[in-house]
Amino acid sequence: MKIQNHVLKGNGTKFQESPNHGGKFSADLPDTIIIHYTAGSSANSAVKHLCDPRSKASAHLVVGRDGSVAQLVPFDTIAWHAGRSTYGGRVGFNKYAIGIEIDNAGTFKKSGAGFVAWFGTAYPEEEVIEAVHRNESSPAYWHKYTEKQINLVYDICSELIETYPISLILGHEEIAPGRKRDPGPAFPLDSLRDRLLHRDRSDEGALESPDIKKAGLVTASKLNIRSSPAFDAITVAPPLPKGALVNIIQERGGWYEVDVTTQGWVKKEYIRT
Ligand SMILES: [Zn+2]
Repeated sequence: MKIQNHVLKGNGTKFQESPNHGGKFSADLPDTIIIHYTAGSSANSAVKHLCDPRSKASAHLVVGRDGSVAQLVPFDTIAWHAGRSTYGGRVGFNKYAIGIEIDNAGTFKKSGAGFVAWFGTAYPEEEVIEAVHRNESSPAYWHKYTEKQINLVYDICSELIETYPISLILGHEEIAPGRKRDPGPAFPLDSLRDRLLHRDRSDEGALESPDIKKAGLVTASKLNIRSSPAFDAITVAPPLPKGALVNIIQERGGWYEVDVTTQGWVKKEYIRT
């Protein structure tokens, strides 16, 4: 699987453009991936809904239970999946984030011996887990994701991290708590982002983060420079201007630690030699 021209290519992936999208992302974006569930009966019905202009909703990808993937919006273009949302001081995540919808019925009500989705379909017990949502205090019944879906979402996120400056993977439930419950506790969100964004915590950490020491040039018009590799970390200096030269010291989960050298003319009396 790989990304070519902002489209995912590989076995079982197809591109079917949705009319529901905004313009291109700004420079240095997207930097976030938002994980969703469809709360529907099939990937096909989700794709149909997200391609219907009346729905005014879309996502970049819909991941089916059999491991098929439909891409509805190219990765350089804003899709409409986040709605009202806030996190880390940012508001409205469509303009920052790639949206991945995973085919999953959502929650179930227990009915006799079975489990019934909101749209009326009954599901067998082996597809159900009882778990407490991160934003709630009592357990509910949730539709399990398939192993294919979980592995595929991991691989897709890994490709996206290679291609775009991704530093955050969040659930819809985290950017719209109270309003949204997806992807819910059946999806291993914490371990997914831990493995993908904090590789230095793994056993091979020492091997994966050697000192790299190479030069880099800032390509954004203003680049914040932070105390640690996270968006909520404080800035330690005024933003770096476009074209500033940096020495890259190390890399961690989509961030570089840099040492900054800038070239320019300064008045002699303000420099001590
Ligand atoms: Zn969602």
